Amino acid sequence: MHEFDQESDDLIQSVFRYALDRIKNEPPLDGPLSEAELTALVGQTVTPEGLGGVEALRRYTEHLAPASISADNPRYLAFVPGAPTKAAAVFDLVIGASSLCGSTWLDGAGMVFAENQALRWIADLAGMPESAGGCFVTGGTIGNLSALVAARHDANAKRSEAGLDRPTRWVMVASEGTHSSIDSAANVMDVDVVLANADDSRRLRGDAVAAAIAGRPEGTEVFAVVATAGTTNLGIVDDLEGIADACASAGVWMHVDGAYGGAAMAAPSVRHRFDGIERCDSLVVDPHKWLFSPFDCAALLYRNPEVARAAHRQHAGYLDPIIDDTVWNPCDYAHVLTRRARGMPFWFSLAVHGTDAYRDAIEGTLEVARATREMVVDAEYLELIVEPELSVVAFRRTGWDLADYQQWCDRLLAEGMALLTPTTVDDEPAMRVCIINPRTTVDDLAMILATLA
Ligand SMILES: *Cc1c(COP(=O)(O)O)cnc(C)c1O
Repeated sequence: MHEFDQESDDLIQSVFRYALDRIKNEPPLDGPLSEAELTALVGQTVTPEGLGGVEALRRYTEHLAPASISADNPRYLAFVPGAPTKAAAVFDLVIGASSLCGSTWLDGAGMVFAENQALRWIADLAGMPESAGGCFVTGGTIGNLSALVAARHDANAKRSEAGLDRPTRWVMVASEGTHSSIDSAANVMDVDVVLANADDSRRLRGDAVAAAIAGRPEGTEVFAVVATAGTTNLGIVDDLEGIADACASAGVWMHVDGAYGGAAMAAPSVRHRFDGIERCDSLVVDPHKWLFSPFDCAALLYRNPEVARAAHRQHAGYLDPIIDDTVWNPCDYAHVLTRRARGMPFWFSLAVHGTDAYRDAIEGTLEVARATREMVVDAEYLELIVEPELSVVAFRRTGWDLADYQQWCDRLLAEGMALLTPTTVDDEPAMRVCIINPRTTVDDLAMILATLA
């Protein structure tokens, strides 16, 4: 391997040219190929001699990239899309190029300082106190896990202070609409989930939380309640004020999973749905979803960060001399040690555009969602499943079963028109679109819905 020569200079130039084109131009939709097709096209790429830069890049640009779907295509409407700003996307290259480790203040003071300002914006949107803080992690899954580990640590500490033994089982309260990552966290932590019933509008309310806490299985104790600020399937925001009351009177940690929906706190038209969120003990919001940051980036915030430090700080001979409480060390706040400064692309874009631009972009996507709702209601062949609260619109095509939805989705992808996937609501197949991309237009949705007639 040569340190630097004409060949590596050429390679750097061509990789940058490709990245620049990708950032500047309309994102392709593309779609997956089978393993056999990829083997035929790409062949073996990891070889003793190496392919060389030109050939390796060719196999990527000609075959591997087109076999992957770009989540920032404006008609990618499945799951939760991603839609990084150009500023955020290009700055991700800088972070990748710079070998900066975001674990500790010693390693990454400049990064951590900037990331903390970006975290503070989210904490302010939520109305969390000055004391609040945390770090950026890979996603909602690891953010939720880290917050819940801190919650259980705190619950254990409080019991031992009170001279009480650990309960036979720790449980957390969640609802039907809670994200699958919460069940996954429960498995990792070996704790149980007690389901509280949502109300008729599918919203988890304080009375149901209080009832679930009171009705917990004999011998168990509740260490956390998980409220969802924007369910992934339908965009429902739980009754955060009522849940905060229930948590306060039971003395239980309130975690808010706003991985998808939390971004909408920036939108004045829906901010009232989040009332009560300022009382949470921990909060997760994914900038790689509705805050226009590249994958992967989740903001994790705690009301009292020292509780998280007690749970997450790692100790080792080589760490203890540099990790203390006089500086902010992001690795203290999640289940992580080495850490890409993954909040930096988000920070750069926020710094470039300003928070007003974020507010306006999110409001714009909400308006497209409202227009989509109108089109669904107006089409006699479609049925709106639930009034959209955020930017998910869920509907059914009359007379269709799961196979019909799947065929339709397959056809749209094959034609390069859109990525949609069927979902399930009330045990029945359904469709949902999730609109977070400011470049998704009402016309895009009109065109897609017209193909259902
Ligand atoms: C997406 C999502 C998650 C998981 O986040 P990842 O970033 O995919 O790990 C958790 N909760 C909710 C509500 C989500 O929408």
